Amino acid sequence: MRLEMSLLMSLQMGLLMSLHRGRLLALFLTLLVTATGCEGREEAGDASGAIGSEQISEAPTQRPEETEVWEPEPRVVRSLGGDSPPSDATVLFSGTDLMAWTHEDGREAEWVVEDGVMTVAPGTGNIQTRQGFGDVQLHIEWRTPAEIVGDGQGRGNSGVFLMGRYELQVLDSHQNRTYSNGQAGSIYKQHVPLVNASRAPGIWQSYDVVFIAPRFAPDGSLVSPAYMTAFHNGVLIQNHAELRGPMAYIGLPKYEAHGDREPLLLQDHSNPVSFRNIWVREISASPSLEGS
Ligand code: MG
Repeated sequence: MRLEMSLLMSLQMGLLMSLHRGRLLALFLTLLVTATGCEGREEAGDASGAIGSEQISEAPTQRPEETEVWEPEPRVVRSLGGDSPPSDATVLFSGTDLMAWTHEDGREAEWVVEDGVMTVAPGTGNIQTRQGFGDVQLHIEWRTPAEIVGDGQGRGNSGVFLMGRYELQVLDSHQNRTYSNGQAGSIYKQHVPLVNASRAPGIWQSYDVVFIAPRFAPDGSLVSPAYMTAFHNGVLIQNHAELRGPMAYIGLPKYEAHGDREPLLLQDHSNPVSFRNIWVREISASPSLEGS
């Protein structure tokens, strides 16, 4: 506004000082060009001044190094690729024997081990690890029979039970419709898998699972539920799914307090499902310096 006023005043002065039209026009054009140039500089000056003051007021008072974390240093785990478990894994079945397993009631496991594979011996019962686990990363490979027998829940049924009670369903779900929360990759009757990533019967498949155990208070009440993330043949099928309790075939699940570490259990559901390459890595809350 100040600029416009001075411009008008200059014009009036020019009118008074010269009556010659040509000179008046020349004067007007000169003033216009000068005023436009001043205006441009004024805007630029304002803008740069604002940015400059902002920069000053928000000048960093910290150095980048102040937000770097150096301790603890994550210990080294060797990942050998292929079918090899990571170097810090607890191997539960490598193809040779069932030393890490017992029958659910503590007797010797009676499943068949042959050609590097363990197979359900129908009717001999569930088997479980001798060792208990809480929060884990689990890898397990499984195969339903190549010869299709039965349908629905009766076809290639088994199950991976984290802590002996939270079931990730194993089933031949290749062109075998059943209830969605009971097909392969379901957290049985609690969570439908995000997709059906099943391979054909007789083909090896894998589950990779991140399981976070539930926490209980001393009085047995639930502090935090279990969570499961799972990949079926490398495909995400359960994304941090919150479990509502142990597997319940009939009725609704309900949590009951149990130990911090419980065995991993594999189900005998009367179908000769095979397993191989089973390992777990226990998850610690923060990186440990042990073994570094
Ligand atoms: Mg099952």
